Amino acid sequence: MTKLTRADCAAMDTESPFAAHRAQFELPQSCIYMNGNSLGPLIRACRERAAATVAEEWGVGLIRSWNTAGWYDLPVRLGDKIARLIGAQASEVVVADSTSANVFKVAAAAAALRPGRRKIISEKGNFPTDLYVLDGVCRFMGETRELKTFDRHEIIDAIDDDTAVVVLTHVHYVTSEMFDMVAVTRAAHDNGALMVWDLSHSTGAVSVDLNGAHADFAVGCGYKYLNGGPGAPAFAFVAKRHLPQVRQPLSGWFGHANPFAFVDDFTPADGIRRLLCGTPPIIGASVLEAAVDIFADVDMVTVRQTSISLSELFLRLIEERCDGFGLSLVSPADADARGSHISLAHEQGYAIMQALIARGVIGDFRAPHFIRFGFTPLYLRHVDVWDAVEALRDIMETRAYASPAFTHRQAVT
Ligand SMILES: *Cc1c(COP(=O)(O)O)cnc(C)c1O
Repeated sequence: MTKLTRADCAAMDTESPFAAHRAQFELPQSCIYMNGNSLGPLIRACRERAAATVAEEWGVGLIRSWNTAGWYDLPVRLGDKIARLIGAQASEVVVADSTSANVFKVAAAAAALRPGRRKIISEKGNFPTDLYVLDGVCRFMGETRELKTFDRHEIIDAIDDDTAVVVLTHVHYVTSEMFDMVAVTRAAHDNGALMVWDLSHSTGAVSVDLNGAHADFAVGCGYKYLNGGPGAPAFAFVAKRHLPQVRQPLSGWFGHANPFAFVDDFTPADGIRRLLCGTPPIIGASVLEAAVDIFADVDMVTVRQTSISLSELFLRLIEERCDGFGLSLVSPADADARGSHISLAHEQGYAIMQALIARGVIGDFRAPHFIRFGFTPLYLRHVDVWDAVEALRDIMETRAYASPAFTHRQAVT
């Protein structure tokens, strides 16, 4: 096989289905954004929506905007738009709170639907907040519940008739390994357990079909591949068949059947609104809505195909151009087994990523020694992948990463 050139990579972008989407992102000049994906970049419409929400809806509309600007309906309206991206129906998804808070709400709600079963099962090495929150759910529910974690290949066998809920992250935040959603959900159901999927690294990145997999509950993140901005609210999904029975523990007034009746007793709202707790973060949710709207004409199958094309190119270029530098692949080599990012391991991973960032190639570092690259077709091109690998090759060849400027650790990695 002849080695690829930059021109070959540029040629792969000529018929990009996402050129018009890329133009909507306000990426800084000479920045290749391969964050994978702790924070999606700014979309022009989000800047405009933030300004309009603050100046007009808040500034002029004042309290009237709860009705006149659609603030009250926003969590469900936006949930309906996200539903389309994850194989859910309208009225099964609501935007609320953070992913951590939503893990608490849905895991506790699911466990309550399986009284008398002790175990909540999750994966060893899952994203920490999921494990911390599940530990909190068990302590909150008392002696009767226990969090059990297993290596990913042991999970299906670990599910038994004492398992209440299985809570897993669909795409692993470091390795990018992707669970077979259909098979694991079936294993949970075969044992009478309920299934919760965390879609933080999946939504907007890979094709997801929650209802096709008969998933019971899910949560996901607004600021990663949905590009909703720092601290954007998250979402929660409850399958329609469960909604009438579901009671979540944070039963705040926005989840009440009639919040403005101001009665003492809690009656949950009929549908997905019962997953709400308090007043929604309207500015953040408005910005998230503008971000989600750019997916309106996007086919997730095409996103997935292009993401695979970008990541396969990355792997090929790493092999052709970065051989012998001690970078090893942490993610599955098989594209079907991984999500939309790739992690490499190197002892000097932190310094290497700092050196890349200094050259405008922004990825992430994850402890202890992983560097992670995201492949987001809406704004990343094949030629960007070439330029990123070229920067990496130069950093490795010249050992530029060994400079003390790159080895000092900052608070947020
Ligand atoms: C990013 C991420 C979160 C984030 O939780 P926050 O409450 O937004 O801090 C949770 N779970 C997983 C799996 C994630 O990747």
